[in-house]
Amino acid sequence: MSGKKQGENISVEFKEYHTPSSGIFFKARKQLYKQDSPHQRIEVIENEHFGRVLLLDGLVQTTDKDEFFYHEMLVHPAFLTHPEPKNVLIIGGGDGGALKEVLRYPVENVCLVEIDAQVIKVSQEYFPWLSPCLRDERTELIIADGTEFIGQTDRTFDVVCVDSSEPVGPSASLHEEDFYQNMKRCLDSRSVVVAQSGSPIFHQSPIKLKNRFLKEMFKVICFYTSPVPTYPGGSWAFVFRSDSVRPLEINGNPPEGLKYFNPDIHRAAFSLPNFLKNELD
Ligand code: SAM
Repeated sequence: MSGKKQGENISVEFKEYHTPSSGIFFKARKQLYKQDSPHQRIEVIENEHFGRVLLLDGLVQTTDKDEFFYHEMLVHPAFLTHPEPKNVLIIGGGDGGALKEVLRYPVENVCLVEIDAQVIKVSQEYFPWLSPCLRDERTELIIADGTEFIGQTDRTFDVVCVDSSEPVGPSASLHEEDFYQNMKRCLDSRSVVVAQSGSPIFHQSPIKLKNRFLKEMFKVICFYTSPVPTYPGGSWAFVFRSDSVRPLEINGNPPEGLKYFNPDIHRAAFSLPNFLKNELD
């Protein structure tokens, strides 16, 4: 690991602003890692309550304590509804949390396309779930820009999970209309695409915009939400798209051992609060 490891027991306060006047802070028991990759600043800190926290360009991506909300809710809704998910694509997701959830299923191949090899290396060192997932023979790791990969591949996937960061920096293109337009070539009529879509509290305009262009491209498009305690607003939106699979038509059971997701949570997650429903209607 070439990154700079910081000394033990430093007491530093990390602040992520969600608006110019509010946000979240973490006192760091230790700053474990801090280095700029060619794509972004990567930091890992240790907080007494949330455990290890991964930040990219100062924004929280995942924490030991609450990663399961986000990763289970990104992955399992698609797998509970697709009749036979065998070939899976994850775009982004270098921390390995989504990969860990996908590998709970008897899939044949999971292709993870991450732009930043350094996120993978750092996550392998600091987050215990990633290394076993990378050793799994079904995992295929590609270090590339997800937009370019989608533009060039001739492969077809049953499930695509877009596990991007915020729509700034390298992730910006993963939130755009062209990316989803190109993705249509990689899907068949039963494919399901899920993507993280930001905070329903703070990011209503981008959610509305995504809804508008995705409605033109897919027959089924539904947003759903989940709590994620360390993300802006504490609640997160995801979007589910397909040309035939409907989110409330459940096929099968989720795997054992999940901490958050179950079929009741699945059904409830697609019931949106009025303020968001009104925006999307
Ligand atoms: N759960 C997270 C969230 O919403 O905050 C997302 C975390 S995941 C670590 C996001 C990953 O997407 C990062 O590792 C980042 O390097 C990767 N990424 C950003 N832009 C990308 C691109 N254009 N192609 C592929 N991966 C990308």
